[in-house]
Parts: sequence; C-alpha cells; structure tokens
Amino acid sequence: MYTETYRSDPARWLAREAPDEPVFFYNPIKLEAQARRFHEGFPGEVTYAVKANPDPLVIEALARGGMTAFDVASPEEMALVRDVAPSARLHYHNPVRSKAEVATARSYGITSWSVDRESELDKLGDIVGVEIAVRLKLPVAGAVYDFGAKFGASEAQTVDLLRSVAARGGVPSLTFHPGTQCRAAEAWVAYIEAAARCAQEAGVTLHRLNVGGGFPAHREDPDPDLQAIFDRIAETVAQAFGPDLPKLVCEPGRALVASAFELALRVKAISGTAVFLNDGIYGGLSEWRDLQASQRLTVYASDGSLRGGALREREVFGPTCDSLDRLSDRVAMPMSLEEGDFVLFHACGAYSTALSTRFNGYGARRIVTLIA
Ligand SMILES: *Cc1c(COP(=O)(O)O)cnc(C)c1O
Repeated sequence: MYTETYRSDPARWLAREAPDEPVFFYNPIKLEAQARRFHEGFPGEVTYAVKANPDPLVIEALARGGMTAFDVASPEEMALVRDVAPSARLHYHNPVRSKAEVATARSYGITSWSVDRESELDKLGDIVGVEIAVRLKLPVAGAVYDFGAKFGASEAQTVDLLRSVAARGGVPSLTFHPGTQCRAAEAWVAYIEAAARCAQEAGVTLHRLNVGGGFPAHREDPDPDLQAIFDRIAETVAQAFGPDLPKLVCEPGRALVASAFELALRVKAISGTAVFLNDGIYGGLSEWRDLQASQRLTVYASDGSLRGGALREREVFGPTCDSLDRLSDRVAMPMSLEEGDFVLFHACGAYSTALSTRFNGYGARRIVTLIA
C-alpha cells in the first residue's frame, strides 16, 4: 500500500486532488476511539485479529492504544506484528499448520495456540506449560457467513481435546469464533454455554475463554450496540461457569477497524440505472461478493459539494472487464449523480485493503491518512 498524510476532510481533498484511482481515507482518531470502546467495555483482554486489516499503520496505532496481544494466522503476520510492536504477545489461532509453520511460530515465542483435532495437537509436540485453546464449533445462526464450516471441534471432540491437553501438561483454554458481523449477542451465548458444558464434562478448569471476533461493524444503520453484547457475554459467563470463572479474551477484527477507513471511488460512467465505478469486487469491495452491499455512503460532486436529494437504486459495476465485477445488491445513490462524482463508502476498513487484488490493472491500494 502507498500511504500519505493530509490535514483535510475527504470532500475538500477529493475536490483538490481529483484522484482518478480509488483512495482509502484512514482516520487514526476513529481507530483509537473504537479500540478504547473495546478496552474499556469488554470484560477481559482485547486482542486484534490481524487478517482484517494488516496495514502497519493499523497495528502501530492499536499497539500505541494499549493492545498488547495480536491474533495471527501465518508466519508473515507474526513477522509483521513483531516488526511494528516487538513486545506484543502473539496468539497463533489458525488451528491447521504445517510442520515448518510450527517451527517458525516457536521461534516467535507464540504464547497461545489453538487446536481443533488430535493430529494437530500431536504436531505441536511438547506442550508442557503452554496455553492450548481448543477451538469449538457449533452449528450457529446469526453471522453473515459461517466460520464453523472450516475449523472447529464438535462438543464431544472438544471434551476429548481438553482432556488430552491437560494430560499432556498443557494449559487448557477454549476458543471459538461465532462468524463475522454477528448482530446479536445470541451467537456468543450459545457458544459460552457449550464451552462451560465441555469444560465440566472434561473435568478441566479453563485457564481462559476466548470468545473470538465476529463483533458487528457499523455497515448499516443503526450503529451496533457493542456494549450490550459485552455485557451479555459477561453475564452469560458468570451464569454458565459459576465459581470456575475463566479469564476472558476476545479477538475482534472487523469491528475494530471497519469505521476507521472510508473508500472513495469515482464514477466513470452512468448509463440508465448502471453506474461504473473505478473499483469493485476485485479491489476494495472484495468482500461484498459474500456480504450484502453496505448502503452507508456519501456522494460528492467533483467540486466537493454534497449531492443530496432523492435516491435511485443503482446497479454497480467495477472497472475490470470481467462480468462478475458487479455488486450483488443494488445501491441507492442520489438521482443527481453525475460522471466524475465521488462515492465515499463508509466503514470500509475491514477485509478491504487486505483483499484488494491487482486484477486487470485495477484495485484500491492508496491510503491517505486524514488528520482533522
Ligand atoms: C477472522 C477471525 C477473527 C476476526 O473476525 P471478525 O469477524 O473480523 O471480528 C477472529 N478470530 C479468528 C480465529 C478468525 O479467524
């Protein structure tokens, strides 16, 4: 990514610079505020799932704001965090690893590993005194897509794995990931209750319970009530575990970073209800293939003035010559939209910079930091 810093607001910057390529605006103040919301509101340790946005700008700001542990899934993510935040602890929560990855991770001094099958526990070798978080999966509704489809042990397997970790001298913890953009606390409630059942049946006291990521970002109105989810998690853990209360950890990605970035795209052409933008699903809007399109946007004319008034549903195409490069949902934009206008999509910080490809010579890769 190519980065610069300006003292300006997006509309003025766009009018002055008239960028013909897509631009991410990064607002460090919003990132710090959101991190504070998690640190102050969540009843345990907050770690950051690096994959949501691995830009060093983000890692650095989170570390400065008091984040002391990061959830990493690959050697490259380990190197990235170490580079920017050398003293941070690393949680290696990708439960399937090659032998070479295990060796590299050891050299990084990983402080927590997740496993979801006995064969991967075997691969870790000596785990005496090491935290091993067994990854539980439930058939669960409420997330935009289902993370349990790939990783995770059933309740019965989780019981066996917890016993196995304890028998090998490891420090047994439990982890789960309810999915992404879970709008209601119910997803966590079901998992926490199952986690308590598993620990009890295994006869194991959990060192920590990691309740994953999956917290919702402000992709659509209203702004999600994160505190209500945090409170419900604390309440459920107290009820389900009683006196054997494990320490809590969470590892949000999306909800921490989404609102700190906006994506400014330019209208290349309009034809009937079709709008052609200078980026699409192969670039900064990549995850919109799987998630519904966000309707949180602001449109500016090329002189920076706000386009208001009545809206019209538009079919939105990206810039590549691939017919898949089209948003699956229509997006409401002002009737007065014109070629050369800028469409500013809000809350685009998660799974955007990380997934932007250079397919066909396009794809957002410029980040402008705006300091108000
Ligand atoms: C992706 C991932 C996260 C972050 O998920 P969000 O929905 O972005 O909060 C957390 N934990 C694990 C294990 C993940 O794979």
